[in-house]
Parts: sequence; structure tokens; C-alpha cells
Amino acid sequence: MLPDDFITSYRLLDAPLPEALTLAFAGDALLFAAGKPAGLADLPPPQALHLIGHYRGQPVQLADWPATVELPEGISASALRTAWGMLDEALWLIAGRASQIATFHRTHAYCGVCGTPTLADRSEAARVCPACEHRVWPRVSPAVMVLIRRGSELLLARSPHFRPGVYSAVAGFVEPGESLEACAHREVQEEVGVTIANLRWFGSQSWSFPHSLMLAFVADYVGGDIVPQAGEIEDARWFTPDAMPGLPGANSIAYRLIRSALDHD
Ligand SMILES: [Zn+2]
Repeated sequence: MLPDDFITSYRLLDAPLPEALTLAFAGDALLFAAGKPAGLADLPPPQALHLIGHYRGQPVQLADWPATVELPEGISASALRTAWGMLDEALWLIAGRASQIATFHRTHAYCGVCGTPTLADRSEAARVCPACEHRVWPRVSPAVMVLIRRGSELLLARSPHFRPGVYSAVAGFVEPGESLEACAHREVQEEVGVTIANLRWFGSQSWSFPHSLMLAFVADYVGGDIVPQAGEIEDARWFTPDAMPGLPGANSIAYRLIRSALDHD
């Protein structure tokens, strides 16, 4: 999610805006100089420049380079996911928007219909095919997250790629044609084998790795024994508030969802 004082807009730029705040990306890595986001003065000319909005009235420009660019001395590249804590939180959230737009342009260089090289639209974050006019926009992938409650207990699961000891709420991507509610019931059934009722909306969060939109719900347990989905879920179990496992990072909606359930118990 973006900070409240960020106003979203888009324009392809011909020249850098001198008063702008710059977010520089090489591939999907944010560039730093002396511990701060690198400015254009520190870098070779970018592949493209995009105005992506205004933060507290100041324009924010995205400058991007291919991942293979040779970085000048003193410039370091850091995946956005690990750059949390290297930037203030508002800037990290804005960098999430920048990263998704940079990823979109990098991964849509050719038309998916006819294979012609695409061109960036000048006035919206889109690319267009000059041969067949097929137009594409940044992909946003909705994913539903469900925190299942049974009295004061919470059902949490861990995927094999989580850090050791960390458990989270059940989550999965929405399928074509599916409602959020249907997705919640299906993912819970598939991943942990139980049934739920009383879905309650919690909130949403853009998660730029690379383009998820997390949609979080709380639900009540109805029935069934926990059966972790082979290959997807390494372990799943009920946790009581006084014996919680490791939780996802404090910058994630999963953390806020679980914390909120514990705080309002
Ligand atoms: Zn085309």
C-alpha cells in the first residue's frame, strides 16, 4: 500500500525532473549510493525515466536499467524485499510501486499476440504494440489470505520456503473466474483440509514481489482435521496465544492480521 500523502500518476519522461526524488532500479534491484537511494548524477544514462506520482508534493521518478548494467564504483544494488529497513517505510512502499512498473516494462518488451517489440505509452503505465495495437498494463495478482480461528486458537501453516520456525495464515492466488470468498474456502480446503465459515474482511496490501495484492480475511473454523497439502505446506497446526511460533516480517499484512487477532482476543 502507498503512503497517504503519495498521489499516484504516470508519465513517460524525456528528461529527468531536476526537483524529483529518484528511485533507480537495475532489473528488480534498487540502487544505493552511500546508504541512500542513488541519484541520477551517480549513474550512467537510464534506459527509461517515468514519473510515478508525487510524495508530499515532490515528483517521484523511476529510472531503470537492465539487470546486466555495469554499476559505477560506490553503487550497490539491493533486492527491494531486503531493502526494508534501509529506507524509511514510506519510501519503501513507494519503491514497491516503482519496482512493479519497472518489472512490467522489463517483462513486456514484445507483443504477446504478434511478437513485435512494444512501445511504452506516454501517459499511462501501459505498453502498446505498434503492429497490432494490442495493449498491456502492469499485472496485479490478487491473493487471498485467511486467518482461521477456533476460540482463542489460530491455525497457522508453514511453507517450505519460509524462514525456519516461521508460520503464517493460509494464502493463495485467486483463479480466473473465482470470487475472493470462493478462493478463501478453496485455498483453506486445499492447503490445510478444514472447512470455515463467517469470512470477515481484514484489509489489503500491495506486495511487490513481484506483483501480488494480498487480500486478508479472518474466518471461523467449522470442521475437519488438519491435513497439510503435500509439496505446499510443510506443517500446519493450532497455536494458542501464549505459545506462538515465529511470525512473518512486521512489514507484511500477515503479521498485522495475526497480531490483530492476538491483541483483540
Ligand atoms: Zn502485436
